[in-house]
Amino acid sequence: MHTFYKGAPDVVVLPTSAAETAAVVRLCRQARVPVVPRGSGTGLIGGAMAPRGGVMVAMTRMNRILEVDLPNRCATVEPGLINLWLSDATRAHGYFFAPDPSSQMVSSIGGNASTNAGGPHCLKYGITVNHVLGLQMATGAGELVWVGGKAHDRPGYDLPGVMVGAEGTFGVVTAVMVRLFHVPEGVKTLLASFSSIEDASETVSAIIADGIIPAALEMLDEAMVRAIEEGIHAGYPKGASAVLLIELDGPRAEIEAQARRIEEICRAHLALELRVSQNDAERALLWKGRKEAAGVIGRLTPNWLLQDAVVPRSRLPEIMREMLAISARHRLVFANVFHAGDGNLHPIICYDDRVPGELERAKQANEALMHACLAMGGSVTGEHGVGLDKAEKLPYQFAAADLNFMARLRRVFDPDTLMNPGKLLPDHPACAEGFRPAAALPGGSWV
Ligand SMILES: Cc1cc2nc3c(=O)[nH]c(=O)nc-3n(C[C@H](O)[C@H](O)[C@H](O)COP(=O)(O)OP(=O)(O)OC[C@H]3O[C@@H](n4cnc5c(N)ncnc54)[C@H](O)[C@@H]3O)c2cc1C
Repeated sequence: MHTFYKGAPDVVVLPTSAAETAAVVRLCRQARVPVVPRGSGTGLIGGAMAPRGGVMVAMTRMNRILEVDLPNRCATVEPGLINLWLSDATRAHGYFFAPDPSSQMVSSIGGNASTNAGGPHCLKYGITVNHVLGLQMATGAGELVWVGGKAHDRPGYDLPGVMVGAEGTFGVVTAVMVRLFHVPEGVKTLLASFSSIEDASETVSAIIADGIIPAALEMLDEAMVRAIEEGIHAGYPKGASAVLLIELDGPRAEIEAQARRIEEICRAHLALELRVSQNDAERALLWKGRKEAAGVIGRLTPNWLLQDAVVPRSRLPEIMREMLAISARHRLVFANVFHAGDGNLHPIICYDDRVPGELERAKQANEALMHACLAMGGSVTGEHGVGLDKAEKLPYQFAAADLNFMARLRRVFDPDTLMNPGKLLPDHPACAEGFRPAAALPGGSWV
């Protein structure tokens, strides 16, 4: 995302219960003050920012596990619970929470549900929406509602499906009921390096076409590997143009057979090096490099712009070729680390804002890439969501009638469009009419 978005809320509240959260929303509604929900603030789309001021409702104090129900393989948690804490709490019983954004050590389950987060292992297990059975929300209308639940077939509309990914524009999520999965019997992680991004991309398509769905299938390019090795020393091979990190999980006999087949596919696509992690420590180190990649980008560039467009997986080789052409045309370095198996692209467009014109070229390259993804049947945004960053880009993809329909749906939950204004849907000039700063809250307001 662009790091130039700025804006501070007038007030930050830290509720400790669903009832308190709903009371805050009701108070803001009476005074017509915008409300910005916030989880851990790791979002990359400017979603949890308050460029118009207002009240930020930060969920960090609501971080308890409310129930673990192993017979029904589910758990109910408060929204501020850190993603990884749920797996940490259930692993000893043989269970884990599958959606694993690379930020899982810090991002909250409420934030994951609100952005419908993906992650490396979502290739096999599905994205967050596939794991949310139910949720509680303090809607923008000031009601506290529970939708969904433990029963798998629900009567009526699939409301959790509508509310997951709403990015705080419907209300504040105050509890989430999620599925738990059995920890698989075995796990195997393979690393393959290639002399070209095209070979690596063709390998990704060939693995899936072969009928194998790895638990994770991640790609890193030469620039990213270099930065990771300088900063984290994860043991990735330097010098190769692309590295694939391929993880298999499931019954041991099955993953052994799949690993042998993947090795054959990698060799057929001219892999330079093939390595299989021999133990948990080696596996953890390979993943440490991937999951901490964002922290080493500063070794590559003083400024960066992260794209999150997506293409259908089969178009991956094509879009990677196009990306090389765009970076050459705009004379910019692109570093890549992304969920290749999902077709999710995360090029990090490197620029230096001290060099005149470089930010402008980065923005142009970013636009060109987004249009290339759309031309290939993709989308302007993948797992990160729309937020402030992509709201004005939605008309590239949706007709006015589609956007109006979404705006009408939003008003069902948030009649006054006070919830996270300016995010997710393109702004209508009338939207900001009647907003008031938090000073409009009655003096001595207390919930
Ligand atoms: C290093 C790094 C790696 C990342 N890797 C991934 C990845 O692999 N996959 C991926 O999908 N994302 C990834 N992200 C992006 C980010 O971590 C996810 O979008 C995450 O789901 C955001 O969670 P959060 O708790 O930080 O939410 P925030 O950033 O605080 O908020 C995100 C959005 O959700 C809304 N929101 C938050 N909590 C609530 C709530 N309780 N009720 C209503 N709305 C709410 C906010 O208003 C905002 O619109 C990464 C980010 C970083 C920094």
